[in-house]
Amino acid sequence: MLRRLLRRRGKWLFALMLVGVVTLSWWPLNHAELLTGAWSYRHAPRAMVVPVEGLATKSLVSTWHAPRSGGRRHEGADLFAKKGTPVLSAVNGQVWRIGEDSLGGHVVWVLGEGRTLYYYAHLDGFAEGLEVGDHVKRGTTLGFVGNTGNARTTPPHLHFGMYQVGWRGLRAVDPIPPLQRKATAQRAKEGATLQARRRSRA
Ligand SMILES: [Zn+2]
Repeated sequence: MLRRLLRRRGKWLFALMLVGVVTLSWWPLNHAELLTGAWSYRHAPRAMVVPVEGLATKSLVSTWHAPRSGGRRHEGADLFAKKGTPVLSAVNGQVWRIGEDSLGGHVVWVLGEGRTLYYYAHLDGFAEGLEVGDHVKRGTTLGFVGNTGNARTTPPHLHFGMYQVGWRGLRAVDPIPPLQRKATAQRAKEGATLQARRRSRA
């Protein structure tokens, strides 16, 4: 059966295989890896935290798609804070990359809830012992606010980006609206628990 199929359709099967191999090798390997990894985080986050410690949700300002050098558009949010302020994971996820690049400086990528890559850039340094593959929770310290990369001449801030992982690649989304919705809800919940605790003690 197989032999007959190979004899009659061998050329076509070979061509199909060749196309498959070429496509797969073209497709960045880490993208295939990302897609499988993203599956465990397919559900949207129920809550988020503002990724800079102590920053109020009210102070968040969207600069989505504001023009940047070299004709680029701003694909993220800049959260200004004192150098050294802890940078927190906004959601539950897994550390995908830790590294350095010319634009972002010290950067951490977390693959997390909502099938999304979360990008933390311009860090002054990384949290001690943080490693690729670590599972992090909403609120886990990833590093510290700084101005590395192309932020050298700006005041220290966290550049926070969100990229949805899809079949055809990454799609940048404005992090401010989900943060405002989900971090405010989270704060309210925490506030309610705190009050309940206070009441039960009183
Ligand atoms: Zn930025």
